[in-house]
Amino acid sequence: MSQITQRTETRRVKVGNLVIGGNDEVVVQSMTTTKTDDVEATVNEIHRLEEAGCQIVRVACPDMEAAEAIPEIKKQIEIPLVVDIHFDYRLALKAIEGGADKIRINPGNIGKREKVEEVVKAAKAKSIPIRIGVNAGSLERGILEKYGYPTADGMVESALHHISILEELDFHDIIVSMKASDVHLAIEAYEKAAQAFSYPLHLGITESGTQFAGTVKSSAGLGAILSKGIGSTLRISLSADPVEEVKVGRELLKTFGLASNAATLISCPTCGRIEIDLISIANDVEDYISTIKAPVKVAVLGCAVNGPGEAREADIGIAGAKGEGLLFRHGEIIRKVPEETMVDELKKEVDKIAEEHYAK
Ligand code: SF4
Repeated sequence: MSQITQRTETRRVKVGNLVIGGNDEVVVQSMTTTKTDDVEATVNEIHRLEEAGCQIVRVACPDMEAAEAIPEIKKQIEIPLVVDIHFDYRLALKAIEGGADKIRINPGNIGKREKVEEVVKAAKAKSIPIRIGVNAGSLERGILEKYGYPTADGMVESALHHISILEELDFHDIIVSMKASDVHLAIEAYEKAAQAFSYPLHLGITESGTQFAGTVKSSAGLGAILSKGIGSTLRISLSADPVEEVKVGRELLKTFGLASNAATLISCPTCGRIEIDLISIANDVEDYISTIKAPVKVAVLGCAVNGPGEAREADIGIAGAKGEGLLFRHGEIIRKVPEETMVDELKKEVDKIAEEHYAK
């Protein structure tokens, strides 16, 4: 069994039918890339994200057309919807009225006190949380002047400033992000934030790059933060199809034993003893198990020399042999299957184990 990282205590905040914080779950979210007022395209993208395992989705709300599209989008999707607003409190009010499950807005950027009060009143009336998004690249001028450049302390000071505005209005359903594209800065900022307040933290390395480089950078940064037990939800930011963000997020959580609803693949790196076309089989199986919502461990090995024994933790696996595959469970070979059908046989076994989990 892999070790479950002990999570830092935080407040519990409800987002639609989910809870962020206050437990060991880390929720995966992503953001759409479509124009939000193009309801059909936005809903299509959200459906693809839902299928990939995205648990919360955020849409940009740059104008009133986008805010007015929220009710129709809400009607057609299952997962909670977060609406991302900068500055304009009227957009926030419209989004809340339209059924947003959470809004992302920095109260210190809204302007006059009455406007902040209106937004907070509306959020309270619908029992929806507000995410404060601190970003190293857009810290308040006063903070930048004080510290000279973006620092973790400056980011925490900014977060506390926005938090205090909401707390003064007796509003506590708060989630905070501390994003930076510099991995060291992000790690330090999240560590300091976890000590400074107990609101759940939304993790992210902003502008982390393309699918490949961004995956490595985000995993390095968020991995360091998650390993300290910090973070209640995360978004991987990639210059790519957002479905890839969800896949990386889920894989990262699996690595830390933080995803109870996902199957994992163990596959060997291959060597000269290989007896099957392991790389394509591993990719096929990985794709197949990506929709399984149970903690099934599946192994795919190129040969039977030491593989099954080494992959003892696998619930089910296959090892290549001459013209056939050896199916094994928990390190013990259970039967031989012909090469042509071995992948299908493996998939059937995976389904059976998943069904057993669902039935529990
Ligand atoms: Fe090589 Fe077999 Fe090990 Fe794969 S399982 S790396 S093929 S010895």
